[in-house]
Amino acid sequence: ERTEPNYFGAGPALLPTSVLQQAAKDMINFQGLGLGAGEISHRSAAGGNIIESTKKHLAELLDVPDTHEVFFMQGGGTTGFSAVPTNLSASFAKKTGKKGKPAYVITGSWSKKAAEEAQRLGFDPEIVVDSKKVDGKFGGIPAVEKWSIPADLSNTSYVYFCDNETVNGVEFPDFPFDKFPGVEIVADMSSNFLSKKIDVSKYGCILAGAQKNVGLAGITIYIIKKSLLEYPSDEELTKLNIPLTPIAFEFPIVVKNNSAYNTVPTFTVHIVDLVLQLLAEKGGLANQQKVNEEKAKLLYAALDKYPSVFNLPVEKSVRSKMNVVFTLAKGTDSDFLNAAEEKKLQGLKGHRSVGGMRASLYNAVSLDSVKLLCEFVEDFGSKNA
Ligand code: PMP
Repeated sequence: ERTEPNYFGAGPALLPTSVLQQAAKDMINFQGLGLGAGEISHRSAAGGNIIESTKKHLAELLDVPDTHEVFFMQGGGTTGFSAVPTNLSASFAKKTGKKGKPAYVITGSWSKKAAEEAQRLGFDPEIVVDSKKVDGKFGGIPAVEKWSIPADLSNTSYVYFCDNETVNGVEFPDFPFDKFPGVEIVADMSSNFLSKKIDVSKYGCILAGAQKNVGLAGITIYIIKKSLLEYPSDEELTKLNIPLTPIAFEFPIVVKNNSAYNTVPTFTVHIVDLVLQLLAEKGGLANQQKVNEEKAKLLYAALDKYPSVFNLPVEKSVRSKMNVVFTLAKGTDSDFLNAAEEKKLQGLKGHRSVGGMRASLYNAVSLDSVKLLCEFVEDFGSKNA
């Protein structure tokens, strides 16, 4: 039992109380087995069912087409930063016989980290755009006319972007897929996965750490185009100077073994399944998207009312619906946070790298919680304007 929290943490984040209550029962005795969901073997029938059920519910909710495959891996988003270049370059090499070069779109600190890892691993990525270099800060997405897209894309192994920059509060309204014909598109959706409807068929690969919108830390969800699961031999990859992927993170191996090449955290996957089932019961992604849009609209409107108190650094057209970032006058952060704490509004402190405030409005954050936050924002705004 708990009182519904008003928690705006960026990740790990709030989970629906009903999911946690069911999970608590299933942790002790799963489906009458007399064992918990975290105790059964990932190779047992019940363990396999957890994976199958979660994949099925995810595919239904997101309308994943037959051309794509869902799988799970440990290692978080950060492991994805390393696993994407090695895996996607192997797929590209199978098709073209070349190593190629990936292209990165940098719109915040997570895509920057991903590009740096591709560089560190020797893939020499092309930086299509770095919004900090264009605007002097992360807070916008430069018009696509300002991007340096290679004229000849035949050597581009994949294009990578982060759909929602969790730290900087920048979200793509639409990615310009049409500017990269024939190139596989990879998206990090760690902080807005299942917050809205998407057309999966447009992506070569989607990755999302579970610990924001869909579950606990410990599992990362991947959706991959099946045609990308063909690789050259290890010898051929080495000859092409493509580093091999550590075996537990090699996509075709993980897929072939139904996400259980090594021990998959079944209990953590099960929680994702419970979240998916609840989303479906509540009207699916169309409904969730509507609620998320409403929450973001209300909070931005409350903050915009007091421009002398709240500074919103992100351009309006690319404001994130998931992570609302704002700063206050120097020295007043703790006043705001302490007053919020008194109203039982928690988790509002911004990321340590940028400071200020951040209210994360993930799926589990209710409209009621957001209304309480808006009331508080307006009260603080009117007292300090
Ligand atoms: N990508 C995004 C968009 C994120 O928000 C985060 C974590 N906040 C990561 C990647 C890194 O995830 P992890 O901590 O699971 O490695």
